[in-house]
Amino acid sequence: MRTRSTRLALVTLLLAELAACRGGGNGGARGGNHRGGAGGGSKSGGNEPADVAGYTIQKVTLPDAPAADTPARQPNVILIVLDTVRAMDLHLCGYERPTTPFLDDFTTRPGVTHTCHAYSPGTWTIPSHTSYFTGVPVSEHGYDSVSHGFGTDLPVLSEAMADRGYQTVMVSANPTLSAASGLDRGFQHVTVAKTLRELRGDETPRAVRKLLKAEADLDKPLFLFVNVLDAHDPYPRVPENTGWVPAQDPVDFPVFDVGQDSEYHRYVRGELNAADTKAYETRVRNGYDWGLAMADRTLSLLIEVLRRDHWLDHGYRIVITSDHGEYLGEHGLLRHGCYTWEPVVRVPFVYVDSEHPEGVKLPEPFPSLQAYYLMMNGALRADVPTVSFSESREGDVKVGADMTALWTSNTEKLVAYPPGRYLYDLDKDPGELGREPLGEHPMRVILDNFEAEHQANLKAEREKVASPERVMELQALGYVQ
Ligand SMILES: [Zn+2]
Repeated sequence: MRTRSTRLALVTLLLAELAACRGGGNGGARGGNHRGGAGGGSKSGGNEPADVAGYTIQKVTLPDAPAADTPARQPNVILIVLDTVRAMDLHLCGYERPTTPFLDDFTTRPGVTHTCHAYSPGTWTIPSHTSYFTGVPVSEHGYDSVSHGFGTDLPVLSEAMADRGYQTVMVSANPTLSAASGLDRGFQHVTVAKTLRELRGDETPRAVRKLLKAEADLDKPLFLFVNVLDAHDPYPRVPENTGWVPAQDPVDFPVFDVGQDSEYHRYVRGELNAADTKAYETRVRNGYDWGLAMADRTLSLLIEVLRRDHWLDHGYRIVITSDHGEYLGEHGLLRHGCYTWEPVVRVPFVYVDSEHPEGVKLPEPFPSLQAYYLMMNGALRADVPTVSFSESREGDVKVGADMTALWTSNTEKLVAYPPGRYLYDLDKDPGELGREPLGEHPMRVILDNFEAEHQANLKAEREKVASPERVMELQALGYVQ
């Protein structure tokens, strides 16, 4: 029986993971307010020495250009998800602040290709990772809820790799990728953070190094999945003298404290005046951008640890992408988990494969779901549409919308926002403020089919009830009260 407290717990959980991207009520896309100087500065979080389980890393030495390996050896396969990284705040993708000194450099290496027009399968951690692990869109696996475990019997990447003789290792700084969600399925060796704060910064490469040293064999092929959480809220404290972002305290979104009078809640309720709204959004952006710089730094340490520990000595494939972006006030929204507007679904995608020293061309727009096929086969699948999904939440909390977005180019975006169908020209309307009815369009039937599948799965899912055991697991994780 679903008790009221269980129901409240679930609602609170949904609030924490999803609802925080609620509207501030004052609408409209707001451009970033980039105080603190334009980019081009070299000083960033990436310059500080790090101590990673016995390695003091002053400087990252990028791996040599991929070399052809002995044919008998299967390449090491490495999937790195930088949680909550939107493309539009990456220096790599044209942003003015120097948020990505490592990626700026790494992506110039021979054989490394990237796109800033990748789109995540979903708008929050669980649906997107499920797509990365199964190779199917959110509409097909239907796992867009925390209210039940990973019920799908779809084969997962980790199991397929294990069948091929790979040792499968997972280190996740995001606690939702756990036994409770079922998303650790198929991984033989697992380290998952217990809270959102446990594996930040150096702690993630440290955990990777420790687990690999303890459990993995350099003579066997490795499938490694790592989730880096540094860009996820709570955003870290910005220290003095970064050179490009003003020092400030951490930015936390106290979503559990429903009804409180925090700046966050007043923003969400649309109660801040124009000046305070702008100041709050600036602080949020500063914290987020610093978090991005931290994620870039953690990534650099991770690559350096893998290089020094000889995991890149033989053939390898590396995917670096994100599971979703983040709202920083666009459409009056914060955080992630709702709608399919560009800030929450456009993500970076970086690929390097030692069997393709010339680099693998990534078409645009690019479905980041292709991570599955690159990891599995070292090749893109031809017929993968660029599509993203989000869902609303009914009941005590009504958040966002069931939405399906389909891109036909980098600028043409078709949106199903029931009951409507809309067309966006991202060149003319980058803030997605207009709303042109879609009308006749050759891709309309594809959008409709995705939307119908999405709705059918949402209906089935909303009829499910979380088991008490599941709720207790989530409580133990600190996700519910
Ligand atoms: Zn996430």
